[in-house]
Amino acid sequence: MKISKQKGTRDIYGKDLKIWQYIEENIRDICNTYNVKEIRTPVFEATELYSRSVGDDTDIVNKEMYTFTDRGGRSITLRPELTAGVVRAYIENGFSSMITPIKLWYEANMYRYEKMQKGRYREFTQFGVEFFGSESYLADIEVILLANTLFKKLNIADKVVLNINSIGCTTCRKEYIKALKDYVKPNLDSMCETCRTRYEKNPLRMLDCKEENCKKILKNAPELTEYLCEECKTDFENLKKMLTELDIKYVVDSRIVRGLDYYNKTVFEFVSKDLDLTVCAGGRYDRLVEYLGGNSTKAVGFGLGMDRLVLLLNELNILPELNDKVDAYILMQDSNAYKKGIDIVNKLRENGYIVEFDICNRSFNAQLKYANKINSKYVIIVGEEELKTNTCVIKNMEDSTQEKIELDYNLISKKIN
Ligand SMILES: [Zn+2]
Ligand SMILES: [Zn+2]
Repeated sequence: MKISKQKGTRDIYGKDLKIWQYIEENIRDICNTYNVKEIRTPVFEATELYSRSVGDDTDIVNKEMYTFTDRGGRSITLRPELTAGVVRAYIENGFSSMITPIKLWYEANMYRYEKMQKGRYREFTQFGVEFFGSESYLADIEVILLANTLFKKLNIADKVVLNINSIGCTTCRKEYIKALKDYVKPNLDSMCETCRTRYEKNPLRMLDCKEENCKKILKNAPELTEYLCEECKTDFENLKKMLTELDIKYVVDSRIVRGLDYYNKTVFEFVSKDLDLTVCAGGRYDRLVEYLGGNSTKAVGFGLGMDRLVLLLNELNILPELNDKVDAYILMQDSNAYKKGIDIVNKLRENGYIVEFDICNRSFNAQLKYANKINSKYVIIVGEEELKTNTCVIKNMEDSTQEKIELDYNLISKKIN
């Protein structure tokens, strides 16, 4: 019986894989130039890590996590996001005693039991950065710059819009939440059930609601940015000023909120107009390290949906040359030629050439056909006759010319260069 892949998972190969690799190469290069170090954390963690950090009143924790009891009776969860895991690693490995700021990046698969939609999978991949140990808005700037650099490198900087907001600190948010609740109260009965629950538990997240009626009610709600305290206001003004000076276009969007206590000040998103999807979401979470048992540490970061980025590049058809080309195919006519032939193959490969030879016992003609199919630029034939004279026939597959030369690595590499 045939076994199929699980809903929400994919096999990635061929042209799609090349796009993934192209983005990943750019990520590596950029993180390198920003002196951001890679971190890899486990695929599964204690369930408590997510119920405490992501929050046990969120859809992620309540409806979407892959949680199971392992054979030792522990409650385990496949990571639904990575910030919590990185923060856990930060605390557990004593990063706080190292030189600050600590700048980390990751690219990893994550798991959420989600409804299937465009750009959404149950196994999905995010690239993200987390900077620890700076409370300056300059850290926010650098994180935004890094994402922007990636979009520039991929030629989609003008295809994504940067939306920013400030959600203040616990002090100024308290004032705002009071104002928001006062505003909503007269209409609370006509709002959806989720909003009515959030009104009590997590009022900020009412602003996230997608229900038309709730949106209508909240349209003229007071804005958080009007309630910022002096410190939060100054930080937000500095951030906007610097973005303008750096010529990074942005829109202030008061609807971006993070409903979790430990998020504060800057929040931002890069949204694709073409896909109508958020490609990258980030912000400050100055209280999370403390929340998870570490010393108070300021932090800022983002997560970027790789699947959505691949989708965007595919849909806009903004792709680099991703052609498959083989430099040479070494056609050895009988087993006596293997020693010398494979020796040449090895040397060519050691020097970076893409080289193939027959591993399927194909006939001479079948091998030629194969070399043609894989787009080999040259075919180098080592037959019985050539072996005797220590020569080979080098055939240019593009213009069909051929010549006989000495069977010597240096000569061959010069010819096919
Ligand atoms: Zn504040
Ligand atoms: Zn609602």
